[in-house]
Parts: sequence; structure tokens; C-alpha cells
Amino acid sequence: MKFITNENLAELLDALKEDYRVFVPVKKTDIGSYPIKKGAQRYYREYEEFTDDIVIGEVRPFEPLKAFFTAAREVVAKGFTSEVPHQEDKPFAIVGVKNCDLRQGFAVQDHVYKDHDYEDPFYVKNRENNLIIASDCTCAIDTCFCRAAGNQPYPEENYDINLSPVRDGYLVEVGSAKGENLLEKHASLIEQVGEERARERDQQRQRVTEEVDSNIEQYEVPTYSKFKSDIIERNWDSDVWYEESKTCVECGACTIICPTCHCFFLYDQKDGDKMERLRVWDSCMLKHYARVAGGENPRGELWMRLRNRFEKKFDFFPKVADFYACTGCGRCVSACPAKIDIRKVLKRLVDNV
Ligand code: SF4
Ligand code: SF4
Repeated sequence: MKFITNENLAELLDALKEDYRVFVPVKKTDIGSYPIKKGAQRYYREYEEFTDDIVIGEVRPFEPLKAFFTAAREVVAKGFTSEVPHQEDKPFAIVGVKNCDLRQGFAVQDHVYKDHDYEDPFYVKNRENNLIIASDCTCAIDTCFCRAAGNQPYPEENYDINLSPVRDGYLVEVGSAKGENLLEKHASLIEQVGEERARERDQQRQRVTEEVDSNIEQYEVPTYSKFKSDIIERNWDSDVWYEESKTCVECGACTIICPTCHCFFLYDQKDGDKMERLRVWDSCMLKHYARVAGGENPRGELWMRLRNRFEKKFDFFPKVADFYACTGCGRCVSACPAKIDIRKVLKRLVDNV
């Protein structure tokens, strides 16, 4: 088994700065003078040197991985030529990425931007050039319900290398040719260790799996096999939508923070004496999202927009792509100021049928 010590990982990240902008998750207990509710959150920060607040293991950072592949606001055309505007000089190396972002997160974004009927040149380039250094989760927070959505709390696919935190360092697994080349290039930093380290990793995976299962049991989250019973169609005229949307303040946080949500709008602005076109993340929870010419709006009421959000995730995507567009990351539960909880809504929908 391949192994890298803590010191050698710091050396590897230092070396990566040559070719990449490296981002690592850091744990914060406050934002400026405001303490963070429930103790701590994890955020990506550009790596400069290895500091004590870097957390490669633990759980997913608050920001979704999609932010490294489609920027929240980016110029997609200039002067209306067919030339693709130049963007980042260096690709990103994103460290500590968790399975809830990697598996269904990428499945949905790839379906929309790469593998279906349209290829987005910015997304495709980022998918080719960015480096993913994934990591096992070493704990669960109480909003994690990935296993109910069919995911495991450790990376299964879509990474270049994966780090499993163990005593004094990390077990290293290769997930792509790019990852293989990276390890060959830095072979002096990698050691071989015995199978007992794999047992240490497996015990940790089992412990975190049980923590997630305990969350699912405590919050009575239906598992993905129960979502399969056409829960949206059968609840189409249910009171659930109106009742659950009553406290919504239409901020859009639930969709912006979601690793699978991908809607955007385009607008044009002046760039000197030319025009440029920008793409900006959008949210189907916002009133004017679905407005059409003439001012009509097929989803004019909040409850219609909440129903649409669930319909996309649990009905539309299974029909067109054969997977659910929810990873069980729990970010929308933490982000919603109105305390609208996807786990509770799903339970009500399943209980109703
Ligand atoms: S809907 Fe909520 S729990 Fe599901 S992937 Fe999006 S943010 Fe995560
Ligand atoms: S985060 Fe909550 S309040 Fe904001 S739009 Fe989503 S459901 Fe509504």
C-alpha cells in the first residue's frame, strides 16, 4: 500500500504550487467577530504553507466543488467572436474533496456541461486540467445523510489520487493516469506500508459509515430505494409543498450551495468600447427565474418553486440520467435561514404514498 507522511504531504503540496493553484480545506470557528453556529465550518483556502487549521479529512467544506469548475460569475464571450476568452493561467489542485461532491456531484455537472447534448468549453477544460486530491471523511456532522442518497463517506470514483487519513499520514490510492503520473514524479515522497494500514483505514470507514447511518435513523431520512416510488408524481397536488415553503425567504441559498444545482443566466455588459457576456449562477427558487416574455410566470408561487426543486432532483434526473440529483451532503439544510430541511420534506413525501 502507498503511504505519505504528514511532512511529505506538505512537501507535495508545496511542489504542486509550481503548476497549480492549490486549494485546501481549513476549519474555522468564527467569521471575523461572529462565532460559527454549531462550533465550526470548513472552507477552501488557497494553500500557501501547511498550517494547523488545514483539515484534509473530517467532512466536506461548505463550498460545493462546482465552484472550481463553473465560476459563480464568469465572462464567457467578449466582443461576440467565437474565440473562447482566456481565463485562469493555472488550473486548480483541489485537496480534501469528499465523495458527496465527487460522485453524484460530478455525475450531474458532467451530464449538463459535458456528456449530454452540449459541451461547455470552460467546464471541459477545467475537468481536463484540474487535479482532484480526494479524501475519506473521518467523521460525520449531523446534516450528513450521504448513504441515504446511495453514496459512501469515502471516495469511490472521479479522483486523481485519494488520501485516507491514518496514523502519522495518509494511505494513497491512485484514481487516474494523471494521479499515477503525479505519484511517479514525486516517488521519493511515497513509501510502501503493510496491509495492517488498510485495516486501520477500513475500521475508520466503518466507524464513519455507522455515524452517517445513525444520522439517517435519528432524522428518519428515507433511503434512495424509497425515493424510487414516484414520490414527486404521487405528491404533485399534496399540501406538503405549500406547508413546507411557508417560511422560505427566497434567498436561493439552497441551490447556490448545492453541488448538483447548475442553473445559470447570461447577461451582457459593456467592456470598454466592446460588449462582453457573463454567465452567473441562478436559482430556480427565485421568483423571476421562470418568467417568460409578456411577464407570465409558470411558477409564480413559492410552493411551486419548492416542488420544482424537488421534482428536478428526484424525478427529472432519475428519468433522463438514471441518478438522483442529491448527494446527501446536507449543505442546503445548514444554509437555509428558514430551516426548510430536505430530509424532513423527503420523509413527508415518502410517508404520503
Ligand atoms: S439538495 Fe441539499 S443535500 Fe442534496 S446535494 Fe443539494 S445541497 Fe446537498
Ligand atoms: S435556502 Fe431556504 S429560504 Fe432560501 S430559497 Fe432555499 S428554501 Fe427558501
